[in-house]
Amino acid sequence: MSKPSDKALVPFVSVDNMMRLIHHIGVEEMLRGLADYVEADFKRWELFDKTPRVASHSAEGVIELMPTSDGEVYGFKYVNGHPKNTRDGLQTVTAFGLLADVGTGYPVLLSEMTVLTAMRTAATSAMVARHLAPKGAKVMAMIGNGAQSEFQSLAMKAICGIDTVRLYDTDSAATEKCARNLAGSGLKIVKCKSPEESIEGAQLITTCTADKQYATILTDNMVGSGVHINAIGGDCPGKTELAPAILKRSDIFVEFPEQTRIEGEIQQLEPDHPVTELWQVIAGTVPGRKSDDQITLFDSVGFAIEDFSALRYVRDRLAGSDLYLDLDLLADPDDPRDLFGMLLRAEGDTA
Ligand code: NAD
Repeated sequence: MSKPSDKALVPFVSVDNMMRLIHHIGVEEMLRGLADYVEADFKRWELFDKTPRVASHSAEGVIELMPTSDGEVYGFKYVNGHPKNTRDGLQTVTAFGLLADVGTGYPVLLSEMTVLTAMRTAATSAMVARHLAPKGAKVMAMIGNGAQSEFQSLAMKAICGIDTVRLYDTDSAATEKCARNLAGSGLKIVKCKSPEESIEGAQLITTCTADKQYATILTDNMVGSGVHINAIGGDCPGKTELAPAILKRSDIFVEFPEQTRIEGEIQQLEPDHPVTELWQVIAGTVPGRKSDDQITLFDSVGFAIEDFSALRYVRDRLAGSDLYLDLDLLADPDDPRDLFGMLLRAEGDTA
C-alpha cells in the first residue's frame, strides 16, 4: 500500500500526551506560558477573523464550533457543555481542536482539548485578572469546585500571586476533591460552608458553577466595592450566575461583545449596556481598573482566539518531542488528480 508523504501526516496530541506535555513543562509554568500566548494574540486582535461560536442547543446541553484565523493559520475547537453529565459519570465539558495552514488548507495539528480548555480558560482568567484585579490581591473565593476549579486556583497563584483560596460548592464532595488536589500546591485552602463565608476577605471572586438556568450564585449584597469578579460558568443562553444588580454596579469586560451578549452574564442587561473589550485594555488603548473601589467583572464565555493561542502554544512545543502521533488523516495520492486510482490500487494491496 502507498505510504502517505510526510506533508500529509497530521500530528495528533492525545489526552495521554497532553498530560505528559503539561507534566514535562510543569502545570504552573505552562499556565504562565499559555497566558502569554493568549495575551499576545489579544494584542493583535484586529488581525483575526471573528464570529460568535456556532452553537447547537438541546434540552440537556450545547455542542459548539469555535473557528478563527489570523490569515496564516486557521483553527477551530469542537466543545460541548452538558451540566447533567456529571450525574452519569461524564465530563460537563469535553473538546478537541485543530490548526490548519491557510495557504494549503491542510491541517497541521489535531489535539485533545478537554484538558487544554481547562488550562486555557484558567490562563485567560488569570491573564485578565493581572490587568483588572486589585493590586496585591492574595485571597480568592472559588465558588464551584468541579473540573475547572483547581486549574483556576493554580493559574491565579502562578500568574497573579494569590496565596489563599476559599472553596465553596453546593456538593461538599466537590470541595473535598478540590481541597485534596490542591493540598500540595502551596496555596492555603479554606473549605467554606456557604457562598457568603467563601467571599469573606476575598479580593478576587471566581464563580465556576454549572447549571442550565439563570442561577444566582452571587447576590448583590455579597459583593463589596473594589473586588474583581471572574465569572466563568455563565456561558450559554439561559445559563448565568450573577444577580443583574451586580452587573449594574460593575465595570464589565468581555472577550467578543457579539458573542458575550448572547451567552454571558450581560444577556440579562439591555443590548446596549456599555462593556469594555478586553483586547483594548491589553493593547493599552483603554484603561482597565481605574480606582480602588471599582468592581471589575470579567464576563467570561470563552472565545475562539483563546483556543487558537492554546493550540499554537502546544504546536510550538512538539518539534523534536515524542508527544504526538502522526495521523494518516489526509488522502495523498502521488498524482493529486488520481484519487480514484489510489483507491483502486488499495484494493489490490488489501486483497
Ligand atoms: P463541573 O460540572 O465539573 O463543576 C461545576 C460545579 O458547580 C459542580 O461541582 C457543582 O456541584 C457546582 N455547582 C452547581 N451549582 C452550584 C451553586 N449554586 N453553588 C455552588 N456550586 C454549584 O463543571 P466545570 O467543567 O468545572 O465547568 C464549570 C462551568 O464553567 C460550566 O458552566 C462550564 O460551562 C463553564 N466553562 C466556561 C468556560 C469559559 O471559557 N468561560 C470554559 C470552560 C467551562
